[in-house]
Formats: sequence, structure tokens, C-alpha cells
Amino acid sequence: MSNNTIPYKIYLEENEMPTQWYNVRADMKKKPAPLLNPGTGKPCTAEELSHVFCDELVKQELNETDRFIAIPDEILNFYKMYRPSPLVRAYCLEKKLGTPAKIYYKFEGNNTSGSHKLNSAIAQAYYAKKQGLKGVTTETGAGQWGTALSMACSYLDLDCQVYMVKVSYEQKPFRREVMRTYGAKVTPSPSMTTEVGRKILSEFPETGGSLGCAISEAVEAATTQEGYRYVLGSVLSQVLLHQSVIGMEAKIAMDKYGIKPDVIIGCAGGGSNLGGLISPFMGEKLRGEADYRFIAVEPASCPSFTRGTYAYDFCDTGKVCPLQKMYTLGSGFMPSPNHAGGLRYHGMSAILSELYDQGLMEARSVEQTSVFEAAQQFARVEGILPAPESSHAIRAAIDEALRCKETGEEKTILFGLTGTGYFDMYAYAAYNDGTMSDYIPTDEEIAASIAKLPKVNG
Ligand SMILES: *Cc1c(COP(=O)(O)O)cnc(C)c1O
Repeated sequence: MSNNTIPYKIYLEENEMPTQWYNVRADMKKKPAPLLNPGTGKPCTAEELSHVFCDELVKQELNETDRFIAIPDEILNFYKMYRPSPLVRAYCLEKKLGTPAKIYYKFEGNNTSGSHKLNSAIAQAYYAKKQGLKGVTTETGAGQWGTALSMACSYLDLDCQVYMVKVSYEQKPFRREVMRTYGAKVTPSPSMTTEVGRKILSEFPETGGSLGCAISEAVEAATTQEGYRYVLGSVLSQVLLHQSVIGMEAKIAMDKYGIKPDVIIGCAGGGSNLGGLISPFMGEKLRGEADYRFIAVEPASCPSFTRGTYAYDFCDTGKVCPLQKMYTLGSGFMPSPNHAGGLRYHGMSAILSELYDQGLMEARSVEQTSVFEAAQQFARVEGILPAPESSHAIRAAIDEALRCKETGEEKTILFGLTGTGYFDMYAYAAYNDGTMSDYIPTDEEIAASIAKLPKVNG
């Protein structure tokens, strides 16, 4: 089929939307390593996990064998409010770059959370409600996850308690108000409402908080209130499962027009959007049916894949969560304060870590000024103001397209445009003012953090 017949936006009809999530672990010969109980050093049992997480989500977390899991009707109906998300052919960007490459992006920013996170938030809230729980607790950094969860909980009439990293709470008041508008209780973390919060505050009264600290508070809040569980917006295998809706839709849309991507690119924080986008394509690769290149793009200031170690580590700074084998910079690693582009999590999804370790996926890191340069270039021709996180993928897609310009290759590139950047205007301001700087951690800094990894086998 000639390119000219492909529309700018490929939409799916409601009846073409996927009705199942795809579980890529079913097709992996070597599975991701199990979560370990930090106390015993043994794999976490469903019983242990069910104190923290909802029962059905524990089942999904531990499910390595079912290739497809049906999306319950209630979730499918919620998806229909803002999905299918468009698959866009970036004709204008291609023209601007003068590249023979064909560029497509799957845009997940068309909902109030401004990101793909709503895809998992509604699923997690649904299972909590179905279990008869009163509410859920969580942490949020920049605020997209907290917003997505607030939206899902208000829809299902579930209580939502969000521990928001204190600096973000103060610097992103608009995000906070969106969450409160949806009925969530938002607490700046560290707070006096939990034991771990009070302990941190007594040691560091001036701290602006961190994601790891907010996780510890949210877990404590869930386990000390009757009828509450903790939910997490990335990293976990259940979250990648829910996000597979992104890749399933992309694949259906591309198949409809006979398009086969050569390279698939996504930004990687904890790995949920990237894992979701690539899952069905990776499944084909694992089953030997097709071949694709997959590229994870991460910030040079928080380079878990490209400079981290594949080992068991804590998922949170407070060390209350299970141990996960993953590419990690160490749970105490903090990206430099001048880092504005999100994706600041120290670890990575266990599924993606294993796929990367098996050489089935590539990774690269990019510096934030070049990320914002790509964001600006993209915004000026494609109209969408991208989230800084998403712009890591834009950077790599543009670089691939420019390489095609040199070689004359007509590659087909697909990347995930995870969200919009309207709440990141301070970061854009720093870029526009020329005051944004890059920071690359030294080998010594990373080694010092890695030296503190927990001592377990595996
Ligand atoms: C949270 C977020 C990310 C990174 O999270 P992953 O789990 O790695 O996908 C990327 N883009 C946006 C817009 C986000 O909100």
C-alpha cells in the first residue's frame, strides 16, 4: 500500500478495540525473577502480597502463564470514554526533518491525567472496588499517577489517599487541585500522619521529600487502615499488563493498513508505557513470527538500564516493599536536583529488565537539554505540547529518522507519546531561558549507590 493512502490519524472503531490484555510473560522462555520477601529472602507468596495489594492484582502480578486476560466490561466501558487513542502519522515532522523514514506515534495524552497512567488506574481501582475495599493509597511525584488514580476512584466511588512528594505539592499546586477536585485526599510527604513520615521529619525537618519516601508512607497508610490497599502506577508486572492496551491498539491500527514498524521506541521511567507499547510486538518476536528493534530511552541523569546493575533491590527508599530483580541504580539513588524531565525512578520493570538482559531490547540515555530541544521541535510542527517524559522518546525517534536521512533508508518508526506537558512549564521556562543544564552522574556516584544493594542471592 502506498504511503499516501495512510491518514494523518488512524482511529479504531469501538468494536475494533482490544477486549483482552496481553501478558508478555506467557511467551518468555526465561521468566522475570520472582519478587522476594526482604525478611525471608524467599519468593513472596500471594498471601503475603495480599496484605498490601488487592487480591485480583496479586493474581495478575504472579500470573506468568495466561497469554490473554479478559478486560472486564466495566473497565472496557471506562476505556471507551477516552480510547482508542489515536495513532498519528507524523507527516509534518517527517517533512520538517526531510527524512525518508515514516514516523508514527501513539498519543496517550487525551485525558485529564495527561498521560497513559489512567489505563492502569481504572483497572486497579476497579479490582479494589470489586473486593469491597473502602479505598486505596498511593504516592505521586509529578502528579500524573495521582491524578489518574483520583479520576478512577471518583468514578467508582472509592476513597483515594495520595502522598505527594512535598516539593511537587508546593511547586505543582495545579496538579494537587486537580486531584482534590476529583475528591482525593492529598498529603504532602513526608507527613506527620505516618510513623515513617514522622521519623524522616524528625531526622530531616527541612526535606522536600522523595518518591521512595512517599511510597513508604502510602504503604504504611494502606496496611494500618482497615479496608485499604496500596496501588502503584508503574514498575509492577500488573501495570505493564494493563498498559498492553496501548500496544494492542497500535498493532490493530497498523495491521489495518498493512504497516509494519521496524523500530519501536518508548521512554522508560519504571517501564509501564514502554512495556505496554511493545508487548504484542515483543510477543511476535519471542514466538519467532516477526522481528522488531525495541529501544528504551532514559535520562542520562537517571540511567537505570544503560549504567545500572541487574540485581535484586528495594522498590522504595523506605525498604518496605518486596525485593525485585531489575536494572537498578540502587534504591538510595537520587537524580540531581536540576533534573526536570521526570523518569527519575531508580529501578525498572522486572519484565523489561529480563528482556533487556536477554538482548531482546536496546536502551540509550539522552541529556535533558537535547530532550527539550526535541520537544520544542515536535511541538512546533505536530501541534502537541509533549510531556518532558514523552520527549525522551521523541528525541530518539528524531535521531533514528535523521539517521535514515543519511542512509536513505525508508524505515518505519513507531514511538509512544505518553502525555502532555502543560504542568511542566517551569521546566520549559528553564529551557527557553537557556538556564537548563545537563547532569551526568559520575561512575563513583553510581558505584557508591550500587554498593548499598541488599545482599541476597539471585
Ligand atoms: C509516568 C509517566 C512516564 C513514565 O512512566 P513509565 O512507567 O516508564 O511509563 C512517562 N510519560 C508520562 C507522561 C508519565 O506520566
